[in-house]
Amino acid sequence: MPNTHHEVLNPATGETVATVPATTAAGVDAAVARAARAQRGWAAAAPADRARLLRRFAAVVDEHIEELALLEVRQAGHTIGNARWEAGNVRDLLDYSAGGVERLTGRQIPVAGGLDITLLEPLGVIGVIAPWNFPMPIAAWGAAPALAAGNAVLLKPAETTPLTALRLAELALEAGLPEHLFQVLPGAGDIAGRALVDHPGTAKIVFTGSVRIGTAVMARCAELVKPVTLELGGKSPNVVFADSDLEAAVAAAPMSFLDNSGQDCCARTRILVQRTVHDRFLELLAPAVQAVTVGDPLDEKTLMGPLISRAQLDKVRGYAPDTLPGIRGAAPAGPGFWFPPTVLTGVDPDAPVAREEVFGPVAVVLPFEDEADAIRLANDTDYGLSGSIWTRDIGRAIRVSRAIRAGNLSVNSHSSVRHTTPFGGYKHSGIGRELGPDALTAFTETKNVFFSTEA
Ligand code: NAD
Repeated sequence: MPNTHHEVLNPATGETVATVPATTAAGVDAAVARAARAQRGWAAAAPADRARLLRRFAAVVDEHIEELALLEVRQAGHTIGNARWEAGNVRDLLDYSAGGVERLTGRQIPVAGGLDITLLEPLGVIGVIAPWNFPMPIAAWGAAPALAAGNAVLLKPAETTPLTALRLAELALEAGLPEHLFQVLPGAGDIAGRALVDHPGTAKIVFTGSVRIGTAVMARCAELVKPVTLELGGKSPNVVFADSDLEAAVAAAPMSFLDNSGQDCCARTRILVQRTVHDRFLELLAPAVQAVTVGDPLDEKTLMGPLISRAQLDKVRGYAPDTLPGIRGAAPAGPGFWFPPTVLTGVDPDAPVAREEVFGPVAVVLPFEDEADAIRLANDTDYGLSGSIWTRDIGRAIRVSRAIRAGNLSVNSHSSVRHTTPFGGYKHSGIGRELGPDALTAFTETKNVFFSTEA
């Protein structure tokens, strides 16, 4: 018997926060029909009105940043500072996407014998399937540009984290978005998620999650000839050259893999350090890792909270048992799903913890010899989502950033995500890009029309 409800737990305490009904396949079917009707009206509305409504949605989200952030802390254990940023990211992306509605211009291409125009038309109903690690931003990265391009959106949040998505759907209605245009369908991946993918009424699927499920979603979309965007995992390198500002590289390293307790697809979990500064780097890194405050996510000083669930905690423990050598910080004991900041040293580059995505506060440090060796190691992974390069040599920064096969690189910093710049992965990290100036186009069909002037 499938679950009729999902229990949402507070990861910091293990206590139940809410119980949410699970959408059935019939529920998805009804939602698609309602969304299709709403989409027709939305696409026909004046672009300026659609833009205005999305800006109003952004304004209503802005008025509820604190409420949304507190809800995220309770269901996902995010630190309050991060959760505020995440709610702000939803607001900013809605605003930015609203600016695109009236700029979704097609083209006029010179041809003989007539006039040729290229239109960008909405696809229809978009299915967005989101994971639990960044419930609000990832929901918005799909939904905001899709709505702006004239589509309806059905969002399936992760089983463990549906509450902020459900609240966003209420705020959309409060802002005046048409009913059923943006619906949130909580439920099981293999029921509600699968039904969204299978449904002939969904025109595109935007999936963020694991490689395993993403591969299955893409295979099904191939059978249905349905476009799909995949944002999958990462095992990103943080490449530290001997000619870098070593103190700055060390200071930035801990939060580059500890932010969100390492449950971040961009986490820099492979720290590659040039051998001549390797020992000095580790000496400096130990106190920096141990200084990271782990604890109550509601405390403003906390930098790292718990893991999402017992299952995730068990998975992370399996990768980084206490017996392995390395640097370890402290984490609360007692209820909740806690794991300390951990940097493993002396790890075989082929060991699972050095190759697979742990999705916890665990990094490995691997030495390299020279620039060519650094590039080889950085690319020695199935993933290609993000990465960082620390060097004072501008030529080297350019050469290495060109040579690393990943979608989002950062020199002398660890930035990955801005709503104004494209985001996505090479290799097994995904297909397609989100965010940035072209995000709306990914939710359109291109139609070319020729008008003869000969008749
Ligand atoms: P997951 O793949 O298990 O689940 C993701 C979503 O897919 C959930 O909503 C789930 O209910 C749904 N789902 C499960 N089975 C499905 C099916 N058969 N059909 C349709 N939908 C189905 O991943 P997760 O455990 O929620 O998230 C963690 C993973 O996501 C990590 O591996 C992480 O790297 C990845 N991730 C990637 C990015 C990115 O932007 N690249 C962002 C966040 C998370």
